[in-house]
Amino acid sequence: MKITNITTQVKQIELKTPFKTALRETSHVEFVRVFVEDDAGNVGIGEAPATKAITGEDIEIILESVQSVKESFLTLTCKEALEFLHTSCKIGSSAKAALDMAFISLHLKETNQTMASYFGIKNLTPIKTDVTISLNSVDAMMQDAKKAYEEGKYILKVKVGSDVLHAVDIVRRIAKELPSCEILVDANQAWNFESTLLFIKNMFDLKVELIEQPVVAADLDTLKKITHFSSIPILADEAVFNLEDVKKVMESQSANMINIKLMKCGGVTKAIEILEYARQNNITCMLGSMLEGPYSINIALYLAFAYRDVVRYVDLDSPLLYKEPSSELDFIFSGCEILFKN
Ligand SMILES: [Mg+2]
Repeated sequence: MKITNITTQVKQIELKTPFKTALRETSHVEFVRVFVEDDAGNVGIGEAPATKAITGEDIEIILESVQSVKESFLTLTCKEALEFLHTSCKIGSSAKAALDMAFISLHLKETNQTMASYFGIKNLTPIKTDVTISLNSVDAMMQDAKKAYEEGKYILKVKVGSDVLHAVDIVRRIAKELPSCEILVDANQAWNFESTLLFIKNMFDLKVELIEQPVVAADLDTLKKITHFSSIPILADEAVFNLEDVKKVMESQSANMINIKLMKCGGVTKAIEILEYARQNNITCMLGSMLEGPYSINIALYLAFAYRDVVRYVDLDSPLLYKEPSSELDFIFSGCEILFKN
């Protein structure tokens, strides 16, 4: 079957409460939904959110990117389209991810396959996601952490900013008041060598699962120094977009683990290449996301199930932040567990 049409829609989903990190604040998730149609009337769907601070792409850029390449895919098969997308299209990684997942989802419709069989998922026992505690005053973050814990969400990704004493304060309080929580700290590049060390020293008597991207992405030397010094595992996020970045970071031992996101690497096809590399080299991964819409989270969840041997941390909690639950997911969120819908 051949691709006959590609269209886009801009969609918004309101959040329960504003989402705040060291890089941005937002009250809704906004994303581009891409529809790819074939000559038999099948439609595949993909999505990409605006994450200008990370991938450099806002909604307009994603729309323009899809517009600029869409003619090239007409009359191609899904397989040919995927090949062309990843070898010849010079567009941003989020726009690529949206097209990639739309082609894959169209291919599944054409071949009458489920995502679970496409990804070879055999183990359907639930996986666990962390839940994000947005950057805020210590009291407000503590309140959010307690609320999450009461709802059964005990894996907390704590977003911290450049004020490292604030970070020490909130993490110590969570550890003290909610001792059975797993704490993941995400600095989103807000620290430097000294502040990271200060933070680590102040955690000497606590269990912190990991520190995510303490310093600016480009500064691998400092990340490496921190990794060597740190008693807490260091996870590279903004420093690793694609497989080449992952190889560079891991081979130079600049971090202990990596965070894979569809929007950084350019979609499912590319995420699989990274996950296979991680599997071969025993690299612990987080499968993460931006603040995203339900289709892109849905496909990332299938990946998390398919690669559960290397995906030690799942950070796919966007649907928990939506004001209204989404009916477009194949999964149910219950506490921190993610289960297949029957
Ligand atoms: Mg991160």
